[in-house]
Amino acid sequence: MSATIHSAEILCVGTELLLGDIVNTNAAFLSRKLAELGISVYKHTAVGDNPKRLKSALAEALEHADLVITSGGLGPTYDDLTKETVAEYFGKKLSMHEESLETIRAYFAKTGRVMTKNNEKQAMMPEGATVFPNHYGTAPSLAITGGENDSKTVIMLPGPPGELCPIFNEEILPYLKARRDSVLVSRNIHIFGMGESAVETALGDLMQTATNPTVAPYCKEGEVRLRVTASADTEECAKEMCDEMIERISDTEVGKFIYGLDIDSIENALVSALREKKMTFACAESCTGGLIAKRMTDISGCSDVFVGGCVTYANEAKVALLGVKEETIKAHGAVSAETAVEMARGVRERLGADIGVSTTGIAGPSGGTPEKPVGTVFVGISTKDGEIFRKLSLSPMRSREYIRIVSATNAFDMALKSL
Ligand code: ATP
Ligand code: MG
Repeated sequence: MSATIHSAEILCVGTELLLGDIVNTNAAFLSRKLAELGISVYKHTAVGDNPKRLKSALAEALEHADLVITSGGLGPTYDDLTKETVAEYFGKKLSMHEESLETIRAYFAKTGRVMTKNNEKQAMMPEGATVFPNHYGTAPSLAITGGENDSKTVIMLPGPPGELCPIFNEEILPYLKARRDSVLVSRNIHIFGMGESAVETALGDLMQTATNPTVAPYCKEGEVRLRVTASADTEECAKEMCDEMIERISDTEVGKFIYGLDIDSIENALVSALREKKMTFACAESCTGGLIAKRMTDISGCSDVFVGGCVTYANEAKVALLGVKEETIKAHGAVSAETAVEMARGVRERLGADIGVSTTGIAGPSGGTPEKPVGTVFVGISTKDGEIFRKLSLSPMRSREYIRIVSATNAFDMALKSL
């Protein structure tokens, strides 16, 4: 059995990367995957199709890390030199790998293309390599080990993401899982209504000092996610360690703002909660322009809880479709708590839902006034138990998109809290 892998570097090969013709999405993908495995990624490097520079980048990467994953340069042409260069570095000879040759032949036959002589080059493998078949293209992937006590591993993957990603998931993941000495479990805590720095303050020095499990924050459009990751000998043990940490975090100020664990989104949490209570939801949208309805209907099969929504952008539509009183708009304006509440009530009553939510606000960049600057949004909610609103004062510097997303998320949060 080969040595355990703790650290990795990612080495992407391709002159297009250096010319800025393509974005290095493979490096991002591989980094995410390795993080999930608990393998630390020390560095990303990109080099052109140049064997000398590739070799020197490889040597440097292997000096620091147990594992180097390369992407690209496994194709059939003369400038595809990754495999040859790595083999030379480890002092291994290439020879024809009959099984791969057969697979490549079969791939060409299946896709009705003509196999040329240079495709045979893709079946040449360094001695002792572990070969992974490629069902998505022609170049097989491979792993070779070398160095002192075979302590270093290089995995070579083809450049096209449509090949690299599925091959990684199907072939490389199991290979790497077998090369770890511990099991890693990650849980995600989803938080809304508290900013990243407030979360950090509430947790004290937990985020910096916790080493196992670790606690890492991720932010996106007003939401904070804390990823708790534990490493242990068994999955059960790692899970228990995560549970303890989640409990510790829930006991702090942050607990009040947690809306779920390991879920895709707040709208998913809402749909689950609505289903559990057998309740229905409808929305009346002005500044979010259908985003709430869009996010609900992104969840397949949610018609059991989501009745529908109205996009009422002009005042007349708010009056005609939702029954908002003209006097209300005249007295308080379309962007007001009063209008928001009447919108939520209107859509709830007219569509016969248990919960109605609404948004009305100024998403910018134009339309702001001194009393109601860009970023002013009223979110309303109406249920049989009552009606409330939330006034958001988001930064006018924020993009229109951000303001709309956060407004919709607030509507989901209010609906979730009402349950
Ligand atoms: P091929 O058999 O297609 O030649 P290859 O393994 O030799 O595969 P490259 O020639 O280096 O791979 O790249 C093929 C294509 O894959 C590129 O044109 C590009 O579209 C994509 N690609 C390569 N590297 C990356 C990367 N790091 N991130 C995203 N896409 C990439
Ligand atoms: Mg190529």
